[in-house]
Amino acid sequence: MPTLEDCRALDAQDPLRALRDQFLIPEGVLYLDGNSLGVLPKAAPARIAEVVAREWGEGLIRSWNTASWFDLPQRLGDKVARLIGAAPGEVVCTDSTSVNLYKVLFAALSQQKDSGRKLVVSERSNFPTDLYIAESLCRERGFTLKLIEAGELQGPDSVLTDEVAVLMLTHVNYRTGAMHDMKAVTAAAHAAGALTVWDLAHSAGAVPVALNESNADYAIGCGYKYLNGGPGAPAFAWVHTRHAGKFEQPLSGWWGHAAPFEFTPHYRPAPGVARYLCGTQPVIALAGLECGLDTVLAAESFNGANGAMAALRAKSLALTDLFIQLVEERCAGQGLSLVTPREHARRGSQVCLSRDEGAYAIVQALIARGVIGDYRAGDSQMPDILRFGFTPLYLGFEDVWNSVEHLVQVLETGEWRRAEFNRKNAVT
Ligand SMILES: *Cc1c(COP(=O)(O)O)cnc(C)c1O
Repeated sequence: MPTLEDCRALDAQDPLRALRDQFLIPEGVLYLDGNSLGVLPKAAPARIAEVVAREWGEGLIRSWNTASWFDLPQRLGDKVARLIGAAPGEVVCTDSTSVNLYKVLFAALSQQKDSGRKLVVSERSNFPTDLYIAESLCRERGFTLKLIEAGELQGPDSVLTDEVAVLMLTHVNYRTGAMHDMKAVTAAAHAAGALTVWDLAHSAGAVPVALNESNADYAIGCGYKYLNGGPGAPAFAWVHTRHAGKFEQPLSGWWGHAAPFEFTPHYRPAPGVARYLCGTQPVIALAGLECGLDTVLAAESFNGANGAMAALRAKSLALTDLFIQLVEERCAGQGLSLVTPREHARRGSQVCLSRDEGAYAIVQALIARGVIGDYRAGDSQMPDILRFGFTPLYLGFEDVWNSVEHLVQVLETGEWRRAEFNRKNAVT
């Protein structure tokens, strides 16, 4: 079994260790929730203050041109592209993940409207907002949302039939941390005549993604999780170039117009992904997102042409492997089960554990000790989950050791049974 000394030795040999200096992390906090809200980049407070005081305060409206506010969604989109296997000009940063999903799913459904196909397929365990958006769009556009269990995509009884218009999946499942093989699933969907919509909320900045190589159709993702863009940061949208210039944008606002400052009375969509913009962009929030993106792109310097994600992935897997091994050895007999796949090719950058009793309270007891993970409620078909995200940018091997040490103590002392840890908060 690895010891604390072994973990320290791994940190000492870790070439990515210096990346942690890019962040402001409170003293005494072990942050295992970067999959929900990334930590604050050191550069962000000064950069945001500069945008407010100088660009807004002094530049005023001139800053749309002089401070390059106007092309922020595209410029940041090009940075995101480097992390998700897309090319420059294919991504915009804008709106929220939920809103972007509405836009891309609408576009995919429009492309299939004369195909006779009536089904949108997604997973029952997908993140609720994705299902809610799909539900209302299907109702509005005359499609039916079909929810499947994980694993129903493969095999001779695959749900991918000639009735399927769109396969809408989240690449890394938010509850379980299970990851799809994007290339194989996309190929299977295309063979069945369906288009794919991928949600990269738990992938962008967390695992390598190869959108173009996978031949995917549409993708969206989140700015405030592994991209460290700040609470409610703008999200992103990508579309394959074969659909660019063809797809419809249902929120046809003036920022997606081919010439917004001609002020013509009729909508004419901008070529390519720029039409995914709707209204005036949140400049201050975009400035925060750029600071976050730069913290991830800083890993490029460790892996040259292979990009930031290849370097980060190796460390992420080492961290999650270590966490799994330590939990299984040191918490044996404590009722915890591993939910996340062991197989590297099927694992995102998080580890989820389930327990029949006390999952919420155990997480609360850990938070009181400064070990911040989170809890996701189960139902009749899914267990309650303790969820731990591992961001290789700012977590080390000793952090993993210490997190497990706290978990061992919380379980062995029964500390989690205290009343204060069993009262539910509004945000879990
Ligand atoms: C986090 C997450 C979202 C968040 O959507 P918002 O519009 O930012 O609230 C959406 N989908 C998935 C799969 C997520 O994990």
